[in-house]
Amino acid sequence: MAYYSICPRCGCHLDPQEKCDCETEEAEKQDFFSRHIEMSPKSGQLVFVFGDGEAAYEEKSYC
Ligand SMILES: [Zn+2]
Repeated sequence: MAYYSICPRCGCHLDPQEKCDCETEEAEKQDFFSRHIEMSPKSGQLVFVFGDGEAAYEEKSYC
């Protein structure tokens, strides 16, 4: 089974320990996104997760 993480900013597939170039300058924002964006196991899309459980689907472009 493939094991990878998704860049929360650009949607690139990364190795588990890898940091995407696009987020190195904005580590704090990256942390915010990592907390609030998850990949839906059903659709494979990135889902923005709010504290109250609501979620909104958001199109992400690939770099
Ligand atoms: Zn990226």
